[in-house]
Amino acid sequence: MNDPVDLLITNVRFPDAPFQEPGSLLVRDGRIAAVGETDVAMHNGDGRYEVLDAGGGIVVPGMVDTHRHTWQAVVRGLCGDMSAIQYLQSIRWGVARHFTADDVYTGTYVGALDMLDGGVTQVVDFSHCMNSPDHADAAYEALAASGIRATFAYGFNAVPGDSVAFRSHDERIADFRRVVDTYRGRNELITVGVALSDFNQTDLDTLRTEIAVAREAQVPITLHPGALRPRTPYGTVTLLHEAGLLGPDMILAHCTNATGDELRFVRDAGAWVSCTPETEMQMGMGFPKIGKLRELGMKPTLGVDVVSDCSGDLFAQARLALQTERALIHRDGMLEHIPLTARDVLRWPPSSGPRRPGAQG
Ligand SMILES: [Zn+2]
Repeated sequence: MNDPVDLLITNVRFPDAPFQEPGSLLVRDGRIAAVGETDVAMHNGDGRYEVLDAGGGIVVPGMVDTHRHTWQAVVRGLCGDMSAIQYLQSIRWGVARHFTADDVYTGTYVGALDMLDGGVTQVVDFSHCMNSPDHADAAYEALAASGIRATFAYGFNAVPGDSVAFRSHDERIADFRRVVDTYRGRNELITVGVALSDFNQTDLDTLRTEIAVAREAQVPITLHPGALRPRTPYGTVTLLHEAGLLGPDMILAHCTNATGDELRFVRDAGAWVSCTPETEMQMGMGFPKIGKLRELGMKPTLGVDVVSDCSGDLFAQARLALQTERALIHRDGMLEHIPLTARDVLRWPPSSGPRRPGAQG
């Protein structure tokens, strides 16, 4: 039997003291066990250890992408110039219906590896290419095979087309319950969750049912509310609030057209917002709600959303969010001090969202 192997990362610079001499960092049992100036002084264990030279780079925890449709890695870049409606027509209501379970496996697996390669170690995968039970199994198995930590959010959105095996919403819900029964507890890195139908494709009663199904199974929930413009007169977040459906088990993507009151409803419910700057700005959803969330004392979280229209690099989203927000902060004139720092933003993705987003208990 092998002894446990620690990982000693040497030649590391720390964000709090970037101009000091590099130090080292010891990882034991998957956790940071020590941080120090010299390798020898900090390594007190008897076990073997591997050494990784960070080359004077900064070490940060793995980032959390709180909103990504991972299956779209195999249609990367197709939507670089598309509006929201063009994206919906070509991908969601277009190619999705032709995706086989193997396609979903490939997209999800490659997409998850791409995230790991870019420093994302946890994702809320809004998996909404569920054309059959085989598609659901494929998406789960691909995440599990990649080694990423994930909330596998089973998409309840209908996918139009004759090739889709589910003939009714009830069949989708029954298959979700099968997935929960099959996979609960199978892999400690994967949590099954629910991705709600989009409000423009369904009604409040259906959403109420989907939320009840998720809560009965005690799994986290994610949804796309408040992204369309012009805003509908009722306001999705307001409807969910008035129906008493918002909760701390939810991550709401975008919320770009949400009013201040609606964001307060989200905050008071203990729910989270995922900002996906590049998709939101390309597709006309509006500016990311970073400033308003911070004003309300909420910590923004970040997501890539779809690599069919943008890079899978979450750092790029963080940079875009930072500079967009700074542009907005300066819009009435140049400030002497910038109140939003790179370090502030770097702290959002790794620490944003619960470790198991929305998980109860
Ligand atoms: Zn999305």
